[in-house]
Amino acid sequence: MSGYNILDVKTSSRSQFIDITGQVRQLVADAGIREGVCYLYVPHTTAAITINENADPTVVQDILNQLEKMVPWQGDYRHTEGNAAAHIKAGLLGASQTIFISNGRLVLGTWQGIFFCEFDGPRQRKVLVKIIAG
Ligand code: ZN
Repeated sequence: MSGYNILDVKTSSRSQFIDITGQVRQLVADAGIREGVCYLYVPHTTAAITINENADPTVVQDILNQLEKMVPWQGDYRHTEGNAAAHIKAGLLGASQTIFISNGRLVLGTWQGIFFCEFDGPRQRKVLVKIIAG
């Protein structure tokens, strides 16, 4: 048994946010702890994880659209694999998040959700989840 859980995430387009809040909540519930910390880590170089509004889906669309304007797919890049934009976007959003657990639940704001961020899909991806009591 490894010291963490793995969430499998299947993406369906090049750039896409996938709301994984429900799956993370379930892992926290299964862990059965009252107080602690949940670490989320994405072991990929062209994907990321972020926390943002999941009530209005246009927020995610706006983030994706603006990231595309800031870092267009085609550009003056040197990386020969052709996915430099995906690496840059992944770097901007980051590979990890930390969320407190209190009273057995993730401490998220009313409008906050956890998103897996694909920037070079479609692919089969993973999110590593480590839940620590304390
Ligand atoms: Zn690359």
